[in-house]
Amino acid sequence: MQIARTVAEYRALRAASLAARPGLVGVVPTMGYLHEGHQSLMRRARAECGTVVTTIFVNPTQFGPNEDFSRYPRDEARDLAICEAEGVDIVFAPSVEEMYPGGAETTVSVGSLSRILEGAARPGHFDGVATVVTKLFAIAQADRGYFGQKDAQQLMVLRRLAEDLRFPIEVVGCPIIREADGLALSSRNVYLSPEERTQALSLSRGLRGAEALWAEGVRDADALRHRVRHEIEAEPLANIDYVSLADQRTLEELAGPVTAPALLSLAVRFGATRLIDNILIAP
Ligand code: AMP
Repeated sequence: MQIARTVAEYRALRAASLAARPGLVGVVPTMGYLHEGHQSLMRRARAECGTVVTTIFVNPTQFGPNEDFSRYPRDEARDLAICEAEGVDIVFAPSVEEMYPGGAETTVSVGSLSRILEGAARPGHFDGVATVVTKLFAIAQADRGYFGQKDAQQLMVLRRLAEDLRFPIEVVGCPIIREADGLALSSRNVYLSPEERTQALSLSRGLRGAEALWAEGVRDADALRHRVRHEIEAEPLANIDYVSLADQRTLEELAGPVTAPALLSLAVRFGATRLIDNILIAP
């Protein structure tokens, strides 16, 4: 495994890797502090590509002024060991200066899809994501980019971005990896106190509860949202940002009976820690 700190170093390593192992290049963009969720993306890339690239970059432009950029968990030595164990060929781990030479002058914005739900709760967040992923796509020159369904709206935004900007890359969505008790893996889970960690199980419990209602034939959007809210509101440390049941293609909030594939998603705060989770529901 080779580590590139600069774009020039990356380009040289990519060319050498392609010469040694002709085939597809797959890129797994991350903010580090890697866990099984990230590793599942690396494994999928490893199974499908000749060259697997993981990027590790805590992107300042996707954090709001009152968010956790400065305290976002970082452990590069551990991350590199995980990448090595997963058979990653190249890790691209640039500095902020390398990614934003001379500052963040050029930005990419994905329009209406990025202004609702997560975009409404975190103004500017998806502009930061779209900008950095555009840069990473331009740098990585990969055939496939691997992203988690954990960040369902991000995945939609990035699919749209790749399509609109005509990037020659396939955006591949991968399933959410959870702890045995249901909590979706997230680098931010380390912020949770033991009590918050226990109460955070209400997120996946609520989603599963709605899924069970759905399986019983309940179709009313309010009833399904209410099932999730009810579970989370029972936890005293949980503050709901939103519980949404939206059209899977447009993310327009649904009312009445659900007749098309839908995304049931939520964001909940425990103190300063903000967690997201979701499931897909299809008729
Ligand atoms: P992050 O480091 O949080 O920016 O995440 C990097 C990539 O890993 C994104 O595509 C995420 O959607 C994905 N990811 C994060 N958590 C999970 C998870 N629990 N299951 C699957 N993918 C995940």
